[in-house]
This record gives sequence, C-alpha cells and structure tokens, in this order.
Amino acid sequence: MIIVMKAGASQHQIEHVFEKVRELGFQAHPIYGELRTVIACVGDERGKSRLQALDSLDSVESVVPILKPFKLASKEWKREKTAINLRSATSNGEAFVSIGNNQFVVMAGPCSVESREQILASAQQVKNAGARILRGGAFKPRTSPYSFQGLEEEGLKLLAEAREKTGLFIVTEVITPTDVPVVADYADILQLGARNMQNFALLKEVGKTKKPVLLKRGMSCTLKELLMSAEYIMSQGNYQVILCERGIRTFEDYTRNTCDLSAVPALKEMSHLPVIVDPSHGTGIRTLVTPLAKAAVAVGADGLLIEVHPNPEEAFSDGAQSLLPNQFEELMEWVKKLVQLEGRKL
Ligand code: PEP
Ligand code: MN
Repeated sequence: MIIVMKAGASQHQIEHVFEKVRELGFQAHPIYGELRTVIACVGDERGKSRLQALDSLDSVESVVPILKPFKLASKEWKREKTAINLRSATSNGEAFVSIGNNQFVVMAGPCSVESREQILASAQQVKNAGARILRGGAFKPRTSPYSFQGLEEEGLKLLAEAREKTGLFIVTEVITPTDVPVVADYADILQLGARNMQNFALLKEVGKTKKPVLLKRGMSCTLKELLMSAEYIMSQGNYQVILCERGIRTFEDYTRNTCDLSAVPALKEMSHLPVIVDPSHGTGIRTLVTPLAKAAVAVGADGLLIEVHPNPEEAFSDGAQSLLPNQFEELMEWVKKLVQLEGRKL
C-alpha cells in the first residue's frame, strides 16, 4: 500500500504515520517529494487491509494499493527514474559517475582477475577507451568445480590497486552471503550473477549494505522474477539496484544465450531502476558483442557490461566472448556516436 501524505504535512506527522505503520507490522519506505511525501508500506500482504484505516488521519491524503507484486521496484511507488551515483577520490583525482541518468556508463574488463599484470593492463586499456567502471571476478561461479574459481580476496586487492591507479570504479561479483562484507569492503558495486539471481539469502545480505548492486537476470527467469529479486534487495533498505540483461536460455544454441533486448524497454515500462546490457554473456561470441552493444544503446539501455581481455586466447574464463583491447576501442567509438545522436553523454 502507498500512503500519500497531504501537501505540507510536518515531519512530526510523517513520523507518527511511520509509527502506526510499524505497529501494524509493516515497514515504511518514504519518498520525500517536493510537494508531498509518499510512503510505501510493505510486509505480509495478508494484513494490508488494516493499513486502509490510516486514511482517517488528518495528515493523510489517501491510502492506495500498489497493484504490482514488486512494490519498491515499481513505478507506482516512484515515478522518477532512479540514478545511482558513485564518487571516489584516488591518487588519480576525484571521479563521479551517474548510472540511470543522461549518462551512458560502460563497465568493462576481464571475466576473471587472473594476475596483477593482467588486471592492471586491462584497467588501463578500458580506461583509455572511455570505460568508467572496471569489472573483474575475484569469486567465480563456475559450471565445473574443476574450473578456475577466482583469486578471492587477493583478486579484490588487485582490483583496489587498479582503482587507485586509474580512478575507475570497481564492480565485482559476490557469490555467498558470508563473503558480502569482504567484497563490500573493496567494491564500488556488488555484482549478483545470473546463477544467484534467486539466492534469497544473498539478496537480503546485499540489501543490508549501502553498496549499489548490479543484479543480473537469471538465465531462465522472467522479467517479473528479476524485479521480485530487486524487491528483496530494496525491502532491506538498499534502493540502489541496477538491472542487467545478460541473455536467457532458449532453443537457439548457436549463441551461448539469447540476448533479450526487449527486456530493456519492457523493464523501463515496469520499473524506475536503471537497466544495462551484457552482450558478452548475452551472446558468448566475440564477433556478436559489438552489434548487440550498438543495439543496446538504441533500445535505451543506461549502460553496458563488456568483457575485455589483453590476450583472450589465454584467458582463464570466457575468452571466446572477450574483446581484444582494439576491438573494445572500436566498440566505444560506435557507442560514443550513438549516444551523442540521442543527446546523451558518455
Ligand atoms: C560474469 O559477469 O562473469 C558472469 C559470471 O556473469 P553471469 O552471472 O551473467 O553468467
Ligand atoms: Mn564471464
């Protein structure tokens, strides 16, 4: 349910409503607008009719249901687009980036952090081409237990060193609830991978942090399920969720996955959250990454996640879909042109 406060309701009156909401067993999530405050009340749906009675309070304009099952992720609660702002100060100076605004944000780097040399070279290459965020997995969710599992905390330290040297922000995956504190110590954005999109314990744990979360769509999950997973994070008080289309399983097996670009405008109809596209996992094939990246700009994505490796032939994971640095530069040239055409900035 949403409680719409009357214009000019005082902070005291708003807090009184919070108290009532909590007494009824719900959580209150307010948005303080210029004119009025709206409070989303979420909790056990069975008790929601009890909230209706709050419309008799003097300070309350109305109490209306949120029809969508994802409440905080819906546009019913928040009409304005959510922008996720990152700020940092490194020896490279101060940096600022805003995801979900007019800015188009590219996150790029290798699938896995493999060595100091590899991640520092990757960072410099993607930075030179115009990426703002460095990706690289330190904890890797691999299909086979015999595949490279990541450098773990050592990999996080290398990512932090790359940030210090380049001023790039860091996005890296966390795969278990117990690893959340250590990954949050190093990362600017916590990545939740496709295989963990419905790991509800992990969703709740990242929801308790103050770090933005990059939530990748599960390979067999619907858009509604993706938004319900975002809801798990947001229900813990962390509203900074970036959605990512990374391809889904279909009958087509030429590509690794089918990159569902309709997800971008569809998610934007349903939600205020930013949406980015990962054409690397979305296709699994190097030559298809740039065409899909170009299309992602055109369908209105807020950014891209691209795998780039200084030497893909030798990559520990996902070499076949990783761009060479010069291919990434070309991709970025295209992206710059397309983004400009739309009056957006890189
Ligand atoms: C990755 O980003 O390297 C990754 C494992 O992605 P996904 O979870 O989409 O498979
Ligand atoms: Mn990968």
